[in-house]
Amino acid sequence: MGNIKDNLRKVREMIQEAASKVGMDPQGIKLIAVTKTVELEKIREAVSAGATILGENYVQEARKKMEEIGRIGLQWHLIGHLQTNKAKYAVELFELIHSLDSIKLARELDRRATAAGKIVDCLIEVNLSQESSKFGIRKEEVLDLVHEIKVMKNISLKGLMTMPPYFDDPELARPYFISLRKLKEEIEKEGIPLPELSMGMSSDFEVAIEEGATMVRVGRAIFGERR
Ligand SMILES: *Cc1c(COP(=O)(O)O)cnc(C)c1O
Repeated sequence: MGNIKDNLRKVREMIQEAASKVGMDPQGIKLIAVTKTVELEKIREAVSAGATILGENYVQEARKKMEEIGRIGLQWHLIGHLQTNKAKYAVELFELIHSLDSIKLARELDRRATAAGKIVDCLIEVNLSQESSKFGIRKEEVLDLVHEIKVMKNISLKGLMTMPPYFDDPELARPYFISLRKLKEEIEKEGIPLPELSMGMSSDFEVAIEEGATMVRVGRAIFGERR
């Protein structure tokens, strides 16, 4: 592992290459630096090397880090599972929630956003692997959830997110990425735009980009192995 600045540069180069390979504009792909369990020092290093979007899994941990690191010039995204009883804080703290996965959570986010006078941007997390991933809504249920969210005034639905099982060979993740893209295309046929596809992590983000990712969530390839 090199230092964080070099790692970030390498990841950006890989994003560029993967995008050019399929004729996509690399500018259209947002890199989310995943900072769960990463200490402040290292996060600051990434920020000074140009990371502008930080992804956190836990509301509490994120809140502490925001107080230390600040928010100016930065976006904080919630990528981990969100419990309904933390919806209020999530609405206050995050620019984008990647993990909307139930109607119950959607109602609570809408209610809290209304109370705060805010519009909360969300992605629906889709569970494409049933057994291996605990979170996310089943593919068959996504369209119903989309229709329910569309009538909520204080949630703005931006797209879909998924997290395939981990494979040593990233090619094995490809079918999941294809499946998420196809789901997005099906929903868009109903006249509901879903511009963002959040898919791809350290082990497989190049494959995800080839299949249409607009957001990649990368932790270890930037910060090294987690504690
Ligand atoms: C931890 C995490 C990531 C980043 O995983 P790496 O393998 O460190 O790149 C991405 N998305 C989610 C939802 C995560 O929990």
